[in-house]
Amino acid sequence: MRASSVNQIILKTLEQDQSHLTAQQIYGRIRDNLPAVNQSTVYRALERLAHAGQVSVSDMGLGAAVYEAVGGEQHHHLVCQECNQVITIDDAAIQALFNDIERQHDFQVVTNHLILFGRCSACRERMPE
Ligand SMILES: [Zn+2]
Ligand SMILES: [Zn+2]
Repeated sequence: MRASSVNQIILKTLEQDQSHLTAQQIYGRIRDNLPAVNQSTVYRALERLAHAGQVSVSDMGLGAAVYEAVGGEQHHHLVCQECNQVITIDDAAIQALFNDIERQHDFQVVTNHLILFGRCSACRERMPE
């Protein structure tokens, strides 16, 4: 199977799911449909897609990097370290911060999926500091 078609299948899998999947989960889904594709092919394709900016790769505190298709609206997340709740925040506020950083440091930010760790309101209520 050509590399480009593996890329397409991975992108379709991520877009259908509309969530964050580990490489292992992506491989699991693809294997159901295409038993001929092996794990290292999927991992290499993910690396290529991430490098090309077509998928984001993030540490969301799950012990393995997660991938998500980058398309349409860019978004970012707040992740609760206690209950793993994921809150999605839109790009506008973060982009303003990135713009400031780019100006102040003459630095081009390529991060397209920012993860901020913390504690959600329910967890702070349950376990006040
Ligand atoms: Zn996301
Ligand atoms: Zn929480």
